[in-house]
Amino acid sequence: MADIIHLLPDAVANQIAAGEVIQRPASAVKEVLENAVDAGSSRIQLIIRDAGKTLIQVIDDGGGMSETDSRLSFERHATSKIRKAEDLFSLHTMGFRGEALASIAAIAQVDLKSRLRGSEIGTKVVIEASVCKSQDPVATPEGTSLAIKNLFYNVPARRNFLKSNPVETRHIIEEFTRVAMSNPQIHFSFHHNDLQVFDLREGNFRQRIASICGNNYNERLVPVEEDTTIVKLEGFIGKPEFAKKNRGEQYFFVNNRFIKDSYLHHAVNAAFDSLIPKDAYASYWLKIYIDPAKIDVNIHPTKTEIKFEDEKSVYAILRAAVKRALGKFSIAPSLDFDQERAFDVPLDKLNAIPIQPVIKVNPNYNPFKPETSFNPNIGRDNSWSRMESQRTDQWLKLHQEPIQQTVYNEEVTEPVKELQREMEELPDDRFVLTGSRILNISFKNGILLIDLPGAHERILYERYLHALQTKAVITQQQLFPPRLQLSHDDALLVTELNDELRKLGFDLTDFGNNTIVIHGIPSGLDSGKETTVLQELLEQFRNNRNRLELSADDNLARSMARSMSVKDLRNYQYKELRKIALDLLQCENSNYGVNGKTILVHLNSNDLLNFFQS
Ligand code: ADP
Ligand code: MG
Repeated sequence: MADIIHLLPDAVANQIAAGEVIQRPASAVKEVLENAVDAGSSRIQLIIRDAGKTLIQVIDDGGGMSETDSRLSFERHATSKIRKAEDLFSLHTMGFRGEALASIAAIAQVDLKSRLRGSEIGTKVVIEASVCKSQDPVATPEGTSLAIKNLFYNVPARRNFLKSNPVETRHIIEEFTRVAMSNPQIHFSFHHNDLQVFDLREGNFRQRIASICGNNYNERLVPVEEDTTIVKLEGFIGKPEFAKKNRGEQYFFVNNRFIKDSYLHHAVNAAFDSLIPKDAYASYWLKIYIDPAKIDVNIHPTKTEIKFEDEKSVYAILRAAVKRALGKFSIAPSLDFDQERAFDVPLDKLNAIPIQPVIKVNPNYNPFKPETSFNPNIGRDNSWSRMESQRTDQWLKLHQEPIQQTVYNEEVTEPVKELQREMEELPDDRFVLTGSRILNISFKNGILLIDLPGAHERILYERYLHALQTKAVITQQQLFPPRLQLSHDDALLVTELNDELRKLGFDLTDFGNNTIVIHGIPSGLDSGKETTVLQELLEQFRNNRNRLELSADDNLARSMARSMSVKDLRNYQYKELRKIALDLLQCENSNYGVNGKTILVHLNSNDLLNFFQS
């Protein structure tokens, strides 16, 4: 029988490959923009016509290509970015397959003009359906201009599959935005049918986000920073109150390329926890830098999905960093919009000899567990309204042993510590109750407003959660253990939660007939109140269980905090007010109450001045 296998001509092979890499005009835009970035450009122009269907042109001022390279760049597996297989694992940018230009040239009419930096003259290559029509010397600026005309002109099936112009344009804007977002040091512009869509001047990351998303974003962003041996993180999250009703502003960049990652997305959402409503989406713009050998970028033809070797650690670090950022942003001043980072270093520090930071490693640190750092030495002499005072003192006793501290980022803790110091030294009359629930504290450089009931609940919540997750709290044994008759459901719930309730300090036994005996109560709880608190607690727990998806610990800590938090503020003394304020600063999240509502507002002198400037 005759041989029937034959090799496909290159042009056909390229067309097939193109199907994977170039699905629509936006995919071509992405590839060509990324090439321009890789070429070290400082200015990149994107010009399209008819949603990219008739023209996609990218002009850059990068390194350019030689005469030979200009021609070679359109060959399949032609790349200057990988030489040997090992390079695949050590490249600092993302997966290079040398496929993009070959694919594009297979399905379009392409004009390339390029001049190598420092070269006298450039070269022009015209290619159609993988066939080189001409190559000539040309006068052209340094850098590269690539024009892709009539995409899919020779693949009618693909062309007919394209969506309407607005839809295709939306995809292009999305790709443009992702590349522009991750490279704020490059000046990008974008014209569609001769109309300017974007003109993004070079700046810092924050400025770039604001120039794409809107200037009002500056005040919505909370910086996230973390530097570990595994990954370095930087970027921003949106404040929970600006969470969107639709996905959209969710950007991960790994080593400066946009990626999608539902696992990491989950990490960010987990950090936002219940701070945003169920039907809203957190916004984030997060850059992850990681050793390229620790990721695999070649698992997806368009390189938007990657695999992390150690994804669990990345998850944990990301979640902890976002959580910390959310908890402290109103205290830690955010960077000024118009300032570059470098200018933020105080003058005296600029000239100082840098000291190697001492890193205190906490062997107990487990990023999967929420930590509460809470200082047992603060406010020991306070006098809460009687019940409160006992509770707090007991809680303080519980925490006399060293408490595991989250390893906080210095940049976050410093302003917090400073505020604490200042607060401890303030005269009493600076702690003023405004209205029935707002604590108003004025400092030298601003004011702090605290929603007291919300703050108290937050403080208790973090402590109970900590107690539940570490060790049992101290139980106060009852001299005359009261009995409590429960509904059948509640009795079942008590049995189910018995271990956790014990950790909170309740020592309960089943007396039969849905009756329990309360032998011990959490230290700090007034005897006489235990039945009310327990009943409230069960009711809260049940409510939460129906409304929210919480772990049992979380639910119990919330319910307990709710039933133990103060309801009546009338008898508050300044000392107690000071104590709440100090305790709130110690909380992992000082900004939001357990229910996600704002509980702390910090206005510095600039914010205050803004009220008076038009
Ligand atoms: P890859 O980017 O994976 O290497 P491409 O097909 O996208 O593959 O590009 C092939 C090669 O063409 C690149 O490796 C690079 O050397 C060259 N090249 C493409 N675009 C440009 C550009 N705008 N400026 C300079 N060189 C470019
Ligand atoms: Mg490329």
